[in-house]
Formats: sequence, C-alpha cells, structure tokens
Amino acid sequence: MSLFNQLVSRTIMHIPAPVVRFFAKGYIAGERLEDAVRVSRELNGRGIMTTIDVLGEFITTLDQAENFKRECLGILDTIDREKLDANLSLKPSQMGLLLDREQALANIREIVARAADLGNFVRIDMEDISCTDATLDFYRALREEFPGHVGVVLQAYLRRTPADVAALADAPMNFRLCKGIYNEPRTAAWKNQETINRSFVHILEKMLAAGAYVGIATHDEKLVFEAMRLVDEQGLKPEQYEFQMLLGVDEELRDIIVAAGHRLRVYVPYGESWLPYSRRRLKENPSIAEHALRQMLNM
Ligand code: FAD
Repeated sequence: MSLFNQLVSRTIMHIPAPVVRFFAKGYIAGERLEDAVRVSRELNGRGIMTTIDVLGEFITTLDQAENFKRECLGILDTIDREKLDANLSLKPSQMGLLLDREQALANIREIVARAADLGNFVRIDMEDISCTDATLDFYRALREEFPGHVGVVLQAYLRRTPADVAALADAPMNFRLCKGIYNEPRTAAWKNQETINRSFVHILEKMLAAGAYVGIATHDEKLVFEAMRLVDEQGLKPEQYEFQMLLGVDEELRDIIVAAGHRLRVYVPYGESWLPYSRRRLKENPSIAEHALRQMLNM
C-alpha cells in the first residue's frame, strides 16, 4: 500500500465530510431516490441491471427502522412505476435487528411481501457477525413464505459459510457471494487475501453445484475469471447467475463482463447517510482517493 493510501486508511474517520464527499461522489447515486432512479435508468440503457439501496445502518431507534421500511416500500413502488430493471437491497440492522429482532423481521417481511406482489425481489445484505445468525434465520423464514422473491448475502471470509450453504440446501437458494467487508476476529474469518480468494472460489463452486442462483459480487479480476470458468464448466445459462459490482468501481471490468455475454447488476446506493458508507469504502480502498486526486490534477 502506498504511503498516501496508508495515510487515507488511518485518518479516514477524521477527514472532514466535504472532503469525503468529493472523493466518494462517484460511488453514490445522490441523496434522493430520484437520483437512484436516474442512475438505474442510465445503467438499464446499457443492458445492466441494478439493485437500489437506501444508505443507513446500525440505527438507534425503532422509529428510524419504520422510516427505512417506508422508504424501501417506496423504492419497490417506484421501480415498478418507472419500469426499471432493478431490485432492492436492504440491511437488517437498518430494519431494527439489533434493537428488536421480531420487529425487524416484521419490517422485512412487509417489504418482501410488497416485492412478491409486484413480482420483484429483495436482497438481504449481510452485516457483521453480530447479525449473521438472525439474518440467515430471516432468510430461511421468508424464502419459505415468498419463494423466488428474497435472497441473502454470504461472505467468503467467514469460516462458517460452507456450513451455512449446506444447511440452507433443503430448498431453492438465492445468494449474493462477496468477500465480506467488516473487520471480523480471526477466530471467525479468514484474514489472508489469498485464502479469502480460495474460499470464494470453493464456496461459489459449491453454491453453483447445488443449483443456487448466485450473484457473484466482486471486482477482483482473478475471481471474475474463476467464476467465468466455473459457469462455463457447469454449462450454466446466463439467466442462472449474475455478476454484481458496486457503482463507480472498475467500469472497464464491468464492460468486459457484459461484452462476454454475462448478466451484470450494479449496486446503486443513495441517501442522506452517505458519510459512513463513503468512509467505509475509502477505508477499505484508499486508492479511490488517489484516483480522484489524480483525475483532479490530470496526472
Ligand atoms: P478486492 O480485492 O477488495 O478488490 C479488487 C479490486 O477492485 C481492487 O484492487 C480495486 O481496484 C477494486 N475495488 C474493490 N472495491 C473497490 C471500491 N470500493 N472502490 C474502488 N475500487 C474498488 N460486503 C458485505 O460484507 N456484505 C454485503 O452485503 C456486501 N454486499 C456487496 C454487494 C456488491 C454488489 C458488491 C460488489 C460488494 C458487496 N460487499 C458486501 C463488499 C464485498 O464484501 C467486498 O468488500 C468488496 O466487494 C471488495 O472486494 P472485491 O471482491 O471487489 O475484491
């Protein structure tokens, strides 16, 4: 990691909000749902699907959860009205998981029920390990009630993930597989990048072999290659899986995936809580700041 990147990573929590906003603006659609609609429409026009996410997590009151639930219902209605090729991603903690588990499930259930009515789909994002068990329980309950309208995220860095896939294999499975973004203890998560990559491929192979629909969420060229190899080896049709990437990240790789005939979905976050999301992205990948700075200075 360059000195500049180390500096960004270590000082990110103290960098003033306007500076963070400058570096992160390409990674967020804007503050309002209409921004996410505009970005989704542009991407749809290029043959790319989206998943819309309203920013906000680890809330402190159930009123906030109620507001996020209403916002999510509004997203689904808007996708339907605007005829977008888009679905919804949400975070269990945003729905109150760490405040009142039953209420959080009721909130998510209402959203998935609306998605089912509209013929759409809800992806339940995966947060840190304090949320894993409950999130998987929610997924299990909701896929039984609304089959085909809900999926969950699994993280390749967690040692438990292969066992979670096996435990969920008693009904059709719909996963997003990603490396995982939270700073977990070594007892729970692989720490070495090469090990995480091998785990990703190992788990993806198991998921596809078990007939799961997988959103292959990575910008890592090595993993994209491995995923293409696996779908080819298993003779899968493009509608049996999809690639997923974050808004604003490696658009060249995005185009390569689409040009090769694979389906791709971009995660389109919007909302007023852009600061924690942006800080997380910058901490995870300080090269974002370096790229933005180079562009600004025309280097
Ligand atoms: P990396 O090795 O981290 O990145 C590969 C290359 O991609 C890097 O060298 C860099 O050039 C580029 N890159 C990667 N990330 C960025 C970035 N943010 N900005 C700029 N360049 C970047 N994690 C969870 O824990 N739970 C979730 O629910 C979740 N949902 C996700 C949904 C989607 C659609 C995606 C794409 C990721 C999601 N993640 C989630 C994040 C994921 O776990 C990883 O932290 C993130 O994708 C980086 O891993 P990577 O596979 O891209 O590989």
